[in-house]
Amino acid sequence: MDSTLTACPSALDAPTGSAAPWRGAVVRVLLFLLLGVIPAVGQVRKDGTVDWNRYYSSGESRAIMATWCEAKPDLARLVSIGKSYLGCDLWVIEITDRRTGRAEEKPALYVDGNIHSGELTSGALALYFAGYLIHSHGRDPRVTKLLQTHTFYVRPKFNPDGADATLLRNIALRSSVRPVDNDGDGIADEDPAEDIDGDGFISLMRIADPKGDRVASPEDPRILVRRKKTDKEGPFYRVFREGIDNDGDGRLNEDGLGGLDLNRNFPRNWALPFRQPGAGPFPLSEPETHATVRFIVDHPNITGIVHNHTSGGFVFRLPSASDPAAFDKEDLGTIATFAKKFTALTGRPVRPSSTHPTRHRYGTLISWAYWDRGIIGWVPELWPGIGKSRLDALRYQDEHLAGRDFTPWKPFDHPTLGRVEIGGLRTRFLVQNPPPELLEKECAVHVPWLLYLAEQAPRLKLEDVRSARREDGAIILTATVRNTGFLPTHLTRRGFLSKVQRPVAGRIEMEGADLIEGSRRQDLGHLAGQRALEGMPKERAKMLRWVVRPTPAGGTATIVVSSDTGGTVRSKPIALAHDD
Ligand SMILES: [Zn+2]
Repeated sequence: MDSTLTACPSALDAPTGSAAPWRGAVVRVLLFLLLGVIPAVGQVRKDGTVDWNRYYSSGESRAIMATWCEAKPDLARLVSIGKSYLGCDLWVIEITDRRTGRAEEKPALYVDGNIHSGELTSGALALYFAGYLIHSHGRDPRVTKLLQTHTFYVRPKFNPDGADATLLRNIALRSSVRPVDNDGDGIADEDPAEDIDGDGFISLMRIADPKGDRVASPEDPRILVRRKKTDKEGPFYRVFREGIDNDGDGRLNEDGLGGLDLNRNFPRNWALPFRQPGAGPFPLSEPETHATVRFIVDHPNITGIVHNHTSGGFVFRLPSASDPAAFDKEDLGTIATFAKKFTALTGRPVRPSSTHPTRHRYGTLISWAYWDRGIIGWVPELWPGIGKSRLDALRYQDEHLAGRDFTPWKPFDHPTLGRVEIGGLRTRFLVQNPPPELLEKECAVHVPWLLYLAEQAPRLKLEDVRSARREDGAIILTATVRNTGFLPTHLTRRGFLSKVQRPVAGRIEMEGADLIEGSRRQDLGHLAGQRALEGMPKERAKMLRWVVRPTPAGGTATIVVSSDTGGTVRSKPIALAHDD
């Protein structure tokens, strides 16, 4: 199989490697075209629905999102925030009801998936969630209301190159596809695993060996388990991934495609690869991570981050990539509130990403987002798997999937190892990700918590907008601005102390009147949310006051309040009549 990737494949380019799923997709598109079941592009049916029990490539995901945006231009917009290593666009779908205000003027939740290539469920969830929001608008009052006041930035394919390498080329991959010299021989990516028996899959190879560390499971001999000291009766095996020793160094498959870990490439608490494998040569060396940081900094309305991964069936919470003892206790309290809700809504547990002062990850997205932007981020590890072990997964695919994920062990003459057997359990759509038949169900589990998180954002509201005539004919304008959200406008103590979020300000816009008391723009500082944080602003509301004198023809005034995180809110125009 050709594992060299040099250019972004366009949506309808057939990949060069083995790609049964892709050929299936092309056949389906042609069938649908002939039968007129779906429009010409993408997988969106005429009624706006999508088959969610399918994994979509980057090209298909883009086509699906483009179809939504075309159908609902007031609700969804597709934005490219940069290019991947191979030059593919990094698409974000921006979702909000634009009739009630611009996306940048509303608090926003950022949701992505598929930073890690093989973790296809995470990309599927992001796309599903975008579809859920768009399809529910006008049908579900909660979503309809939420989209009037909030924005979602959803990015299904953080790493489109790697995600497509896994889905379309059947390459086992975590990293991006930038070549990395994993074995230090001066050549990158020269010894990948390969489909040497040509059955379309890279499976396992086993070699009978009295010193082997594997043995057939006593419960089901098709599965190999670790040999115990007490296991005296073989046969015992050594197990490798399918492939040959391309570079002749005596090791098999030790330098395959890529090797960078994009979620170790973020700047806060980044560490060199000797400490953090996959970190890359320097922070933000990769176009995918650089575009992410640029996008989040350029969108200060982002109040929360959900950075989806697969698998495990839990969520990683902060702290991540830092000493837990250095983490703010008040912010941990906020995190605990959201975490409790995660368990209540999904039935799944929460785990800290970092539990040791130094033995932790380095250079993760959510660590950067917290320390440098004051934003609380989450790493859901989707898909709890089937049962408790591979044996359960094996039985499930026997009973429900016609045995399609197990390849019986078959003899093969390997060029350097001699007689081996190739076969075993294929785990990609069984253990690592759900079988497509269970994908929609898995995605649906997460929607209520994502909606909940969005609803916790700070949100400014204007109350008691009043005008009163003074004895001298001038008009006193007053209004109260309130943060009705759960989070304060500085999001976290970290946000407040690092002064990254622009606080609340009120301003008056006038025609046909002169300002005689009060500054046109009034800084109000930050407003607390429902949860008051120790040592932080306590007030949730503040008053604005101006005195204006209308011209003889009369005029109007509009009060505008805004903050980076709580949105921008305008009063209705206030008529200012001259006092005759
Ligand atoms: Zn991951």
